[in-house]
Amino acid sequence: MTIAFYDAEVVKHLLDYPGCIGAMRDAMRALSAGKAQPLRQVVTVAEKTLFGVMPGDLIAMDSFGAKLVSVTEDQTRPGRARHRGVVVTFAAHTGEIESIADAEAVTSIRTACATAAATDALARTNAEVLAIFGAGTQAETHIRALRHVRDFRRILLWSRSIDTATALATRLSAELEIAIEVEPDARRAAAEADVICTVTSATEPILYRAWVRDGTHINLVGSSFLGPVEVDTALVVESRYIADYRPGALAQASELAKARAAGLITDDHVKGEIGAIFAGILIGRESHDQITMYKSLGHVVQDLAAVAYLHGRAIAASENNISGAL
Ligand code: NDP
Repeated sequence: MTIAFYDAEVVKHLLDYPGCIGAMRDAMRALSAGKAQPLRQVVTVAEKTLFGVMPGDLIAMDSFGAKLVSVTEDQTRPGRARHRGVVVTFAAHTGEIESIADAEAVTSIRTACATAAATDALARTNAEVLAIFGAGTQAETHIRALRHVRDFRRILLWSRSIDTATALATRLSAELEIAIEVEPDARRAAAEADVICTVTSATEPILYRAWVRDGTHINLVGSSFLGPVEVDTALVVESRYIADYRPGALAQASELAKARAAGLITDDHVKGEIGAIFAGILIGRESHDQITMYKSLGHVVQDLAAVAYLHGRAIAASENNISGAL
């Protein structure tokens, strides 16, 4: 048995954005159509060090496996976190390990590609201004991914640190040959946007209902456990709320829990899962003026599908090389 290993550089090379967006659509459709999956387990192993274990089963895609990650403070960038670990995939029918991939690189790309697929399904078709709140790893991958689902005329970047935002905007503008505008005023960035992604480690709201135009699509990505919130409760209450995985959102989506604790909504506020929209079972946006909200907590099926996809690309590339050499 040969186990393929994909380090971060190889993951970034093989996990192309359009292909990964397609893999995320398939994974989320399979998740919504399949049996329930265990929620992730997080163990505190030391002060400021968490260990996350996320098992999953891609029923419709012949694969199962797990993501194992440590979450620690980044020693080189105080206040920022690192999520280091591996994604292990097994073949469903034989039980053999197929591949092991760097989890940090997979997570950074698959999260953004899942958001892109959700945006494609929920944002107005004529959406043309994108605002990104945050300027870290996820901000970068979200800019890279969302370009593939809408032809954005403007991309606005807000972050609490102008220097970080400017550095990211300058680097990506040059590389992608697009104009990314740093907007120091969060309220103005929100008011001009058709699509907003919150990708920060903020613990208190950085975005408010009063700032958001009707018809905007919001992707809430930054908070992945109970406690931190990125938006105010009014925005949650007044949005059509779609989860990546309903049981996960009901248990671990902080903004939803806060609105529920305030007695403003019930569990019915979760209108359904993004996979059901991809499958055509659930309607996405109901009107031009509706605010839609996709809550991303992340799910291991996204990691498994991303790794299965890049593993398939690696096999195809090696077969082509072999046949080319014959
Ligand atoms: P980074 O550490 O690379 O970036 C974090 C960003 O958040 C930085 O721009 C940082 O600003 C900003 N930030 C931190 N604290 C605050 C605050 N109090 N108010 C406003 N902005 C703040 O992290 P990632 O980009 O990798 O991840 C971003 C978030 O997304 C994290 O919370 C992470 O846990 C979550 N995540 C969610 C996933 C999902 O599947 N839903 C998957 C992966 C990550 P500055 O530059 O000034 O420090």
